[in-house]
Amino acid sequence: MSVKRCMRSYLSQPSFPRQKNVFVKKENTRFQGGFYLPDAYPLQFCSIIEDISSDGTPEMFQFKVPDQKVAHIIVNLCPTEPWALPNWVILKHKTPSFLNMLKEIKTNYFPGAVLSLAINEGECRTVEDAKKFASNEDWMRVFPLYAKYPQDDPVLLLKVILGIEVSFGQDTKSLGVLILDAQTVSAIYESCILRNKVDSRLIVLSGTGLKENEIVNVQLGTSIEKILKNKVKETGKYRVFINGPLRGNEITDLSQKINWSVNNIVVLEEKNRKVMFPMIKSDELILTTNLLGELRRCVYCNYCDNICPVDLEPALYYHSYTRGEKHKARLYNLEKCIECGLCSFICPSKLELLHIIKECKALDKQHEKIT
Ligand code: SF4
Ligand code: SF4
Repeated sequence: MSVKRCMRSYLSQPSFPRQKNVFVKKENTRFQGGFYLPDAYPLQFCSIIEDISSDGTPEMFQFKVPDQKVAHIIVNLCPTEPWALPNWVILKHKTPSFLNMLKEIKTNYFPGAVLSLAINEGECRTVEDAKKFASNEDWMRVFPLYAKYPQDDPVLLLKVILGIEVSFGQDTKSLGVLILDAQTVSAIYESCILRNKVDSRLIVLSGTGLKENEIVNVQLGTSIEKILKNKVKETGKYRVFINGPLRGNEITDLSQKINWSVNNIVVLEEKNRKVMFPMIKSDELILTTNLLGELRRCVYCNYCDNICPVDLEPALYYHSYTRGEKHKARLYNLEKCIECGLCSFICPSKLELLHIIKECKALDKQHEKIT
């Protein structure tokens, strides 16, 4: 179940500045829709990082060089979710050292590849350092991007940076494109170049259900229960999401262990009270789990259509679904949905649009099997 939001006037959003991109053609440098989440959920983290050890033998990070030829590497330094790991944690304000790591990885493993750095354009110092470094390296390109969610989704990254259209969930390695985040670059350097053991990863802990937002260094194989011990507020119920409340998953089994795919844990208070006049709250944006009498009918506001980053019309899926015509959703480019969750997030009627979309997609797959 995706997380719901209280109403905020979408019309009153500030307009998004155009993305500046130094190398790609103008028509590839922006997408419609999306949402600048850090404004709505500004999160501050303490710079002290706690180490959390596993009870058992920790697993090791392993990097497998792709079997396919890698023509392009995209390093994503443009996280768009407030609960994602901030760049400073890995870069430590020493961008040239990080870029030298990248250079060694490329030289050793991907000598023929072109490397594109997608950097949050708001991090001016990092952008400047990267541009200076790239000016001496003909294999490196720098793309300052506006960090509007979900710009860092592979579908949008490839479209914006390489001008390539890919399908949601498609393995980009099969197209010769390897996408890496900062933490994975650092781990590859440690394990493959320096030959050190890497058995832990940095995880961001945040949300209204926690005593504070923090970053922890967790050994792989540690349970979520152990990570959250003494960190959750003692009052009330809470819900736990892995990799964010928008495109991640809610979990109930806290014995689940951390692996390299877990970037963050978001804990939200389970609210069990009604919100007064949620439809006219224009200055408030709350990630809430409140379902008490909140669900309403579609009011044809089109907010979901306007926010969709891949130009879909989520309300059409909803209406097909409620008419009992789930299979008709496939007529409206359902397969292009990148499951970012923004339509559910923005819907003032708190409709579970992404949940419906996933259900229709599953039906579509069944249908393909039969035909
Ligand atoms: S339809 Fe899909 S891609 Fe569009 S906003 Fe909803 S979840 Fe995101
Ligand atoms: S589904 Fe929600 S956001 Fe979309 S038109 Fe209906 S009420 Fe508006």
